[in-house]
Amino acid sequence: MDNDARTNLQRLKETIIKDHERLGPDDRLGFRCHKDIPCFNQCCRDVNIFLTPYDVLRLKNALGMRSDDFIERHTILPIEKGQKYPVVVLKMEGDAKTCPFVTAQGCGVYKDRPWACRIYPIGEAHPNNEQTGRSFYFKLEEGDCLGHRDPKEQTIREWLHDQEVTRYDDMGALFRAVIFHPGFERIKELEPRQMQQFFLATYDLDRFREFIFESSFLQRFALDPAQVEQLRRDDEALLSFGSTWLRHALCGEPLLEPDPNYVPKSRKKTGKDVQP
Ligand code: SF4
Ligand code: SF4
Repeated sequence: MDNDARTNLQRLKETIIKDHERLGPDDRLGFRCHKDIPCFNQCCRDVNIFLTPYDVLRLKNALGMRSDDFIERHTILPIEKGQKYPVVVLKMEGDAKTCPFVTAQGCGVYKDRPWACRIYPIGEAHPNNEQTGRSFYFKLEEGDCLGHRDPKEQTIREWLHDQEVTRYDDMGALFRAVIFHPGFERIKELEPRQMQQFFLATYDLDRFREFIFESSFLQRFALDPAQVEQLRRDDEALLSFGSTWLRHALCGEPLLEPDPNYVPKSRKKTGKDVQP
């Protein structure tokens, strides 16, 4: 994403908070997208799709890839001065800047498509402070999208249900529990080590699992054995634990119990050690 795109994004955020009509789940939406519409697949190119940690989890598993391989191959990670958490954008390919997953038949990862692709043409804003108000929905109308001309109507609640957004929202709440945490809001700027922790526990889950099982982590914290087994097998449990660990390590909320029997060894750090 270049500087213009970033400036546009910032402007878009401000416009949404200030000017967009704030909608609730029972407001109605006239929209339909289908294979026979003339604009079919047109929206799957030259577009900034911001990926959530859960998007990456679903996509890398759907593609049978490790998180670090998926991130390297399919994403870009724009970095701005003062940025407080990682931003991950789906990498478009070729001169036409096409989504790597689009096929002539439509989305090639439809069952696991990202949240932003599911929820369109609805957007969700989480201003989360008293001046700008609480979370709300708003309509997005891209100029070339003909779906808005379809007479079919549904409520936003029905649309979100139809697009199976709920699980994505639940997992997104784990991420928001960190970035809107009072302890996190007190941090002015993350040190590189803290940014590395954040990225590991949210987007790079296969390496996060290696960190948990191959460093001294399990000696330092007294975790329930059943939970440890779940973390070994279950990516969603791992992502949920990642949120807990970040709230503990970055936000100062004492959620993990140190193991009283742990005696730190003085030894050289390895690449697999990220201090909590
Ligand atoms: S542009 Fe709109 S109607 Fe056309 S395929 Fe994309 S979402 Fe569907
Ligand atoms: S992930 Fe699927 S729906 Fe989203 S842009 Fe790519 S092809 Fe289109």
